[in-house]
Amino acid sequence: RIVFLNGSFLPIEEAKVPFMDRGFLFGDGVYEGIGVLDGQLIDNEAHLERLERSLAEVHIRNPYSRAEWTRLQEEIVRRNGMTEGFIYFQVTRGVAERDFFFPENAEPTVAMFTQAKAIADAPAARTGIAVVTVPDQRWGRRDIKSINLLAQVLAKQAAKEAGAQEAWLVEDGYVTEGGSSSGFIVTKKGSIVVRPLSNAILPGITRKSLLRLSEEAGIPLEERRFTVEEAYDAAEAFLTSASNFVLPIVSIDGRPVGDGKPGPITKRLRELYLSMARVPALA
Ligand code: PLP
Repeated sequence: RIVFLNGSFLPIEEAKVPFMDRGFLFGDGVYEGIGVLDGQLIDNEAHLERLERSLAEVHIRNPYSRAEWTRLQEEIVRRNGMTEGFIYFQVTRGVAERDFFFPENAEPTVAMFTQAKAIADAPAARTGIAVVTVPDQRWGRRDIKSINLLAQVLAKQAAKEAGAQEAWLVEDGYVTEGGSSSGFIVTKKGSIVVRPLSNAILPGITRKSLLRLSEEAGIPLEERRFTVEEAYDAAEAFLTSASNFVLPIVSIDGRPVGDGKPGPITKRLRELYLSMARVPALA
C-alpha cells in the first residue's frame, strides 16, 4: 500500500511522522475525505474548497493549490490501483517543541492514504442501518473539519456497543448530525428535513449534492432542525457521507423507522446520487 507523506509517495511501513508533530500532540490539524467511484474523484472541487476554509479558520497555510492537490489525489488512486473507495488526507500545523502558541517556522505535515471499499454495492445500502442517539459533546466549531475526533470516537463506539452502525448526536433535544455523516429524515407528507448549516454541524459535501439532486427531482425540502421524537415518527431516515453516499436508516434507538425497511424516497435519492457520481460512459 502506497501512501503520501510530505512530498513523497512511499510504502505505508516507511511513512513515519515525527514524535513532536502537533497533529499527534494537540490534534492541531484538519482533514478531508472524498469518495472514489469508477476510479474518479467525486465532488473534489467542493472538498478542496472546504479544506481551504478549514485551514484558513485555524490559520494553517495550505501547502498546495487545488491543481496540485488534485494531481496528488489522482496519483495515489493510480498507484494503489483503487477503483472504488475513499481518499483521506490531513494537514497538521507541523513539527515543533511542544508549546501551545503557533510555531514560528514549522512546515505543515501533509499525509494522504486510500482505503478500497465497495460503496455502490455496499450491503448496508440494501438492508439499511441502525442508529442510536447520544449527547453531542463536541466543541463549538463543528463546521471546521478538525482532526480532533475524540467525541465522535466515543459516540460511535457507544453506538456500536448498542448494536448500531452510526450515532446520531443530540443537542437541546435536536439532532445535530451523525458521528461521521449528515442526518436526514423524510416526513409522512414526503418532504426531506435537514438541519441548516451553522457552526453546529459540518457542511457535508454529500449533503450539498443531495440537496441539489432532491431539488432537481422536485422533492420538497424543509431546511430546519428536527427533534429525536420527530425522527422516531418519520416515514424514512437516511444519512449521507463521502464514503457511503446515501445510506438508509431503518431503526433509531431500537424503534423501526417507518416499516423498518429502506424507504422509497431514500432509495430514489441513492440512485440519483449514484448516477451523478458514475462516469457517464460507464453508467
Ligand atoms: N458530519 C460529520 C461530523 C462528518 O465527519 C462527516 C464526514 O466525515 C459528514 C458530516 C459528511 O460530510 P461529507 O458528505 O463531506 O463526507
